[in-house]
Amino acid sequence: MKIIPLQETEERVTVRLEESSVSVANALRRAIVDDLPAFAVDEVDFFENNSCMYNEYLANRLALIPLTFDDEVADDAKIVFSLDKEGPCTVYSHELRSTDEKIKVFAKNIPIIRLGERQRLRLEATAIKGTARQHAKFQSTLASYAYCAKIKVKKGDKNLAAAVAACPRKIILPSGELQSVELCDLCGACTDAAPEAVSLKAKNDEFIFFVETYNNVTALAQLKRGLAKLEERCTALAKEA
Ligand code: SF4
Repeated sequence: MKIIPLQETEERVTVRLEESSVSVANALRRAIVDDLPAFAVDEVDFFENNSCMYNEYLANRLALIPLTFDDEVADDAKIVFSLDKEGPCTVYSHELRSTDEKIKVFAKNIPIIRLGERQRLRLEATAIKGTARQHAKFQSTLASYAYCAKIKVKKGDKNLAAAVAACPRKIILPSGELQSVELCDLCGACTDAAPEAVSLKAKNDEFIFFVETYNNVTALAQLKRGLAKLEERCTALAKEA
């Protein structure tokens, strides 16, 4: 399988998988979504909570706040966060104070709750390392894929202008040339408008693969971690066979 980079920022990366199959693309997606370890709040001790929200609701919200990740932190580490706020105020995620510099709140501006006059929230939350196979709160990355399109255009066809006008992504040019084909989502508007001028097919060995990260690990690093996990699983499977 070949991986061709298309777009990259810290948070998102898009690549093209070539000489691949839908099974491999999906296995890679599953490895990224399910198998990458991350930290999340697992237990909360409430010392005071006279807010309008039950402890269980608040614990659920705290568990979904993205935390940073560091490979060097032990698998069985327990990271304690503390929070002590009195209303009237809005309590934000960055107000959770970590006892470990390496693992802290990553998404800092998530509102947790609004406290009214004389309402107080005092708690200790413990985060552990896990994967989304155990619980969705450990999912630190989103991954998805789409089939690449094979588009054939009959240059000079009298109906070509209709296909050009119909394409919402401006992939088909009036000359019949194509641009940014990786943006094609196989919507079929071009073939509906001018079936004689354009033919469209999904390639079953080429995919656009998208990764978005929710923590301090870059999207490219998450993709590489996913590939390593997939390789690990394939090796284990080969040994069993
Ligand atoms: S399938 Fe849709 S996006 Fe792709 S070229 Fe045709 S009209 Fe454009």
